[in-house]
Amino acid sequence: MNAALGIADAGYEVYLVEKELELGGGLREIQELQSGEKAAGVLAEFVDKFGACVIATEARDFVPEGYHGYGKEKNVVTVSEFGPMLTGKIDANTIVLIQDVPGSGEGEGVSAKYSSIEVVDSALKAKEKNPDVNVFVLYQDIKTYGKWEVLYKEAREKGVIFLRYDKEKPPEYEDGIISIYDVIFNDEIQIKPDLVVLSTPAMPAEENERLSKMFMIPLKNGFFMEAQERPKMVLTPVDTVNEGVFICGSAVYPAMIDESLAMSSAAASRACVLLAKDSLETPAVTSVVDEQTCSGCGVCADMCPVEAIELTEEPVPVITFGVATVVGGVKKVAKVGDGCIGCESCASYCPSGAMSLRYFKDRQVYAQLDFAV
Ligand code: SF4
Ligand code: SF4
Repeated sequence: MNAALGIADAGYEVYLVEKELELGGGLREIQELQSGEKAAGVLAEFVDKFGACVIATEARDFVPEGYHGYGKEKNVVTVSEFGPMLTGKIDANTIVLIQDVPGSGEGEGVSAKYSSIEVVDSALKAKEKNPDVNVFVLYQDIKTYGKWEVLYKEAREKGVIFLRYDKEKPPEYEDGIISIYDVIFNDEIQIKPDLVVLSTPAMPAEENERLSKMFMIPLKNGFFMEAQERPKMVLTPVDTVNEGVFICGSAVYPAMIDESLAMSSAAASRACVLLAKDSLETPAVTSVVDEQTCSGCGVCADMCPVEAIELTEEPVPVITFGVATVVGGVKKVAKVGDGCIGCESCASYCPSGAMSLRYFKDRQVYAQLDFAV
């Protein structure tokens, strides 16, 4: 929304495509941000300007079904569920927050950078609401980075107890008792909690897979990849390998609201730079295939980050050697489409030497080297 507003403010017509009926995404489910601002207030600022409802694609929480009795025990909740509980009366004398609850396996989300901030903020709010409640945070590593470092300091001052565990020896919860091996005390500690709060990994939006194919942008752990491998993009973290397509917020990684806003402003600004041009330049250096040499192995198509290569079936010419005739038939041949950005991955991996970069064929490069030496 912020990116759309930024581009619209620059005088360009903007279409906002949203799959849900209302704008706001996960912001609608949050009561209060870490900064103390009411989430609904922040959202209203955007929605009022559009006069419509839109929800953006973003990261979602992993549901830790069965973990520590989640889903069966009423006193086991996630941090996201604990947020709304903090606005009412919490019937608990001892609350234990567990950070870095694992996903159910490989590829099940990523540990969000903001998870420490979320956990420490929730612990602090619980303590502020009722100073007599015992609040424990079980963690592997606390990273309340940047301006949020103050939350950690405040939480400690207000009496939140932090216990560090090893990844190989996670806390166990059995018969209402949490057992944790504290690596700082070097001892086993047992706590009888009234409420257990789990901080879970963040999952990419389900649509990312489909959008990745549509816009030809590769994914990493389900999130869109920035064009990091291109040195000129170091200062343009919202650019992708597909020029003209920008990414921001939790499309890139599970981001906090203020990070998402900063990234969306950057994306809007990058888009405006493009829109302000009268004409667009396309990369002159793209890949070309020598169809005669191409064996149709498909290695290049697998390597291409923007899926610009297709394998097509081409007729093989009939060749006559004196009296013998070699029947043609069909063979697979790589075809490079318009989306090529000239990254050269395909040419480097082609086992037949059939793929090369225009103006940078092997023999041209060798000729230049010969001349130089
Ligand atoms: S261009 Fe090279 S890598 Fe691609 S299909 Fe042909 S032989 Fe294989
Ligand atoms: S150079 Fe090859 S791998 Fe890179 S974008 Fe073009 S076709 Fe794809």
